[in-house]
Amino acid sequence: MSYEVKVYPDSILRKKSETIEQIDENILKLLDDMKDIMYSYNGIGLAAEQLGILKRLVVIDTKPGGNNDLIKLINPEIIAAEGTYEEHEEGCLSVPGYYDTIKNRKKGVKVKYIDIDGNDRIIETEDFLSVVLQHEIDHLNGILFVDRLSPIRKAIFKKEWKKMQKERSAQQ
Ligand SMILES: [Zn+2]
Repeated sequence: MSYEVKVYPDSILRKKSETIEQIDENILKLLDDMKDIMYSYNGIGLAAEQLGILKRLVVIDTKPGGNNDLIKLINPEIIAAEGTYEEHEEGCLSVPGYYDTIKNRKKGVKVKYIDIDGNDRIIETEDFLSVVLQHEIDHLNGILFVDRLSPIRKAIFKKEWKKMQKERSAQQ
């Protein structure tokens, strides 16, 4: 099966992904493919939803090329969150080429998920991983990082995006 990363404003990115009921060969293969796709785009996180597959699956590696920091998450869910993460820039493989400052991410999160062996696991972090977890879990709920911009920034994004699309189609 070949995959395609879905790009804004594709309506599939607005859907709510479904909970995985059973971890089988197909799910494991998909997670493995997601990892390869994430690395091929130099991404640090990917949700199955971004491939148009509405399953609650996420892969994350905040230090690609590094030290085995890959995490495969099945049915990840934020069960606690506190504080405010410092202003930082976010981007997304589904909004290619656009980066903007996000102000309202939580600092610390506690995320519950199932690992590939079917074990219940918990990640508790206040590091940048916290932001990536929030970004990816947002995808599973049909939310993009640009939705979290202020109304003014959102308007700027829409204008910029239109311009970028025009430039892209002019190049083709
Ligand atoms: Zn994203």
